[in-house]
Amino acid sequence: MDKISIIVPCYNEEDALPEFYRAASDAVRDIDGAEYEFIFVDDGSTDHTPDILESLSLSDDHCRSLSFSRNFGKEAAMYAGLQNASGDYCVFMDADLQHPPGLLKEMYRVLKTEEYDCCAGLREDRTGESRLRGILSHTFYRIIRRTCHLDMGDGKGDFRMMNRAVADAILKLPEYNRYMKGIFSFVGFETKWIPFHDAGRTAGATKWSFSSLFRYAVDGILSFSSAPAALSGMTGALLIIIAVITGIWGLAAEGGLSGIPLLVCLILLLNGIQMLFISIVGQYAARDYMESKHRPIYIVKKRRGFS
Ligand code: UDP
Ligand code: MG
Repeated sequence: MDKISIIVPCYNEEDALPEFYRAASDAVRDIDGAEYEFIFVDDGSTDHTPDILESLSLSDDHCRSLSFSRNFGKEAAMYAGLQNASGDYCVFMDADLQHPPGLLKEMYRVLKTEEYDCCAGLREDRTGESRLRGILSHTFYRIIRRTCHLDMGDGKGDFRMMNRAVADAILKLPEYNRYMKGIFSFVGFETKWIPFHDAGRTAGATKWSFSSLFRYAVDGILSFSSAPAALSGMTGALLIIIAVITGIWGLAAEGGLSGIPLLVCLILLLNGIQMLFISIVGQYAARDYMESKHRPIYIVKKRRGFS
């Protein structure tokens, strides 16, 4: 019989957890032909989350949990959950019921009967989120798609069920600064997207402030792209071009190039050259940084004809 591991990162979720546990248990029990386990990861909660997890693991054999020594962030909690999951299929779910447990059955069916390795929820709306956050995250995903050339999009969150091959591939990326959406995209495999309606948090409050979201966005771009270093080079090149054009234009003009225009021209030229060389150094540093992540050079999806 297959086993489904439900991985739930929890940070101060005492209000949401009991309801989540009930709803998710009901949903997963409704799946024929599969047993299940919950892997709750308490990410350094300061409320009664650890106590709730303790009593769940005592009262229900399906519940396992671990507590971090402090708050390490959702990405770390998801990685820890995956490392400790023994299921043939693993699914990440938020504790606040924004990821409808009712979809688990369909996700499992897709992975069992269709040619997909991963089945993910595609959030169609942003109920309970401010307009500004919606606009900012939309802009962020446009930038990230352009700079990182990875398939990361608005609404493509962490709610996804994957088979063992995908889970093992994700575990092979040991990097410290983890950006899960990028990692999902990096490892590849076939993903089916199922649209779902996000009804908003059932209880508790979001753990994201604007500053933490901004840091998360910068993390995402820096983890998968050296575009910011290239940007400095492009700006430098642009400054040099402007300096050369204005220089030629000034020399051709009556009276030649002298005084303040000459000074501005020289400043532009020297700054441009400086930025260009900083960008070159930056590109070397970026390569070294990417190497230091020790990512796998390739990920095999299927082997044929080997003994
Ligand atoms: N979470 C976590 N560590 C953190 C922040 C959040 O484990 O530092 C968990 C949180 O308990 C929830 C999930 O990540 O289960 C999503 O967090 P939240 O609902 O606050 O994010 P949002 O839905 O607002 O993006
Ligand atoms: Mg949430």
